[in-house]
Amino acid sequence: MGVLAVQGDVREHAQALSALGVTWVRVRRPGELADLDGLILPGGESTVQDKLTRALGLRDPLRAAISDGLPVYGSCAGMIMLASTVLDGEADQQTLGGMDVTVRRNAFGRQVDSFETDLRFPALTEPERPIRAVFIRAPWIEAVGPGVEVLARVPERPQGSDAGVSPAAGRVVAARQGNLFATSFHPEVTGDLRVHRYFVDLVRAARERVA
Ligand code: GLN
Repeated sequence: MGVLAVQGDVREHAQALSALGVTWVRVRRPGELADLDGLILPGGESTVQDKLTRALGLRDPLRAAISDGLPVYGSCAGMIMLASTVLDGEADQQTLGGMDVTVRRNAFGRQVDSFETDLRFPALTEPERPIRAVFIRAPWIEAVGPGVEVLARVPERPQGSDAGVSPAAGRVVAARQGNLFATSFHPEVTGDLRVHRYFVDLVRAARERVA
C-alpha cells in the first residue's frame, strides 16, 4: 500500500496501516506508484498538496493510476484531491478528480477549526457501533453523481451544536465510487481502525478481481 507523502498527516495513516499488519511505502516520486495495490491521500492542505504533486511530476501519473482503477482512499484534504469539483478552492486550485462529487472546502466554518461527533457508518465492521468523526477544517460533500454511494452523514443533531439546526446536519462526509473512497474526517487520529480496515478490504477485493 502507498501513502502519498508530499504533505500532511502521512505518519498517522502509516501507523494505522501498520496496526492492521499492512506493509506500506511513502510515495513522493512517479516511479513509486508502480506496483501499488492501493494508495492513501492523507489530510493536510489540499492547495499545498496540489502544488507539490504538480511540481514533483506526480499529477499526471496519479490521474492515470486513478483512471486505471487503483484503489484510493482520500481523507479530508485527500477527499478534496479526489473530487471532480471543489467549491471555495483557491483560484488556480486543481484536483486529481476521479470521484463524481462536489466538495466544499472548510465547509464547517472558518471559525470552527475542528469539530467532533459520533456518526453512523453502517458499511464498517460492527455496524451498530458509531464512529467518532474528527473534522479539522474539513470539507463536506455537497453533491454526488449517480455512481456514488453515500456511506455516512453528519447526524441531524450533531454533538456540540446549539439548539437550532446546524448547517452541518445531514451533510455527506463519507462516500465511495468504485475503487475510490473518501471521508471528510480523520479516522487516523482516533485509534479506531475500522475505516482503514474498510479500505484494506476494498483493496483486497480489487486485487482478487484482477488476479
Ligand atoms: N482545509 C484543508 C484543505 O482545504 C483540509 C483540512 C484537512 O485535511 N484537515 O485542504
